[in-house]
Amino acid sequence: MSGWVKVAGLGPGDEAMVTEQVRTALAEATDVVGYIPYVARVVARPGLTLHPSDNRVELDRANHALDMAAAGKRVVVVSSGDPGVFAMAAAVFEALELRPDPNSFDIEILPGITAMLAAAARLGAPLGHDFCAINLSDNLKPWDLIEKRLRLAAQAGFSMAFYNPRAASRPGRFERVLEILRAELPGQVLIAFARAVTTGEEHLNVVTLAEADAGMADMRTMVIIGNEDTRRVGRWIYSPRRVG
Ligand code: SAH
Repeated sequence: MSGWVKVAGLGPGDEAMVTEQVRTALAEATDVVGYIPYVARVVARPGLTLHPSDNRVELDRANHALDMAAAGKRVVVVSSGDPGVFAMAAAVFEALELRPDPNSFDIEILPGITAMLAAAARLGAPLGHDFCAINLSDNLKPWDLIEKRLRLAAQAGFSMAFYNPRAASRPGRFERVLEILRAELPGQVLIAFARAVTTGEEHLNVVTLAEADAGMADMRTMVIIGNEDTRRVGRWIYSPRRVG
């Protein structure tokens, strides 16, 4: 089979953060599939067919990409940030798992700069010590599990990066997240709201957990909460490498 699938991360927004490897894949592609706003970031050209699709159809999209590759097309599946972080790479493997001969496909995952790392870099070094990343969307997992992980991660002293902090379909849920964090952590722990990082609409806001308000986050925001040692230095925040 001469067709292939490359699952590519477009980075957080800034075109300078799209890797050379991803640019090359897009230049060689015959087809691009992905969520509408991500496909909109790909420049149209003759010989390239764009297949934008709606959110929440990830598995259909992955199957479409595999079918096109089997028919000889060179397909790039685009995600924002990194495709392996709460994005299309896992969806492609979920689709692949149901195929009779997974090894017959030529698949490559092309990493990108995930929102968590782009946000951390703009803020300073809040992830300088141990940390974890949690997707706050309960589309694909029970809410109780999110609450449990939040509590245990806070108890374990991790800095935490929250993806998908808020959605219109989940009113009150981020308020609940703040309530759980306040029950587990001192009010002076720093929490950063980094919106649309590396784009023209970037907005950074660092407050204490006691001051935090759910209205500070939306779906374009990465929320990073520090550990108990995370501190301000000048206009930055950082988590020291040494703890205890
Ligand atoms: N695969 C993506 C994440 C997809 S989940 C990645 O690796 O970055 C979508 C969530 O990512 C958003 O709700 C938001 O929390 C975060 N996000 C994506 N781009 C962002 C940006 N430029 N600035 C801040 N947060 C962003």
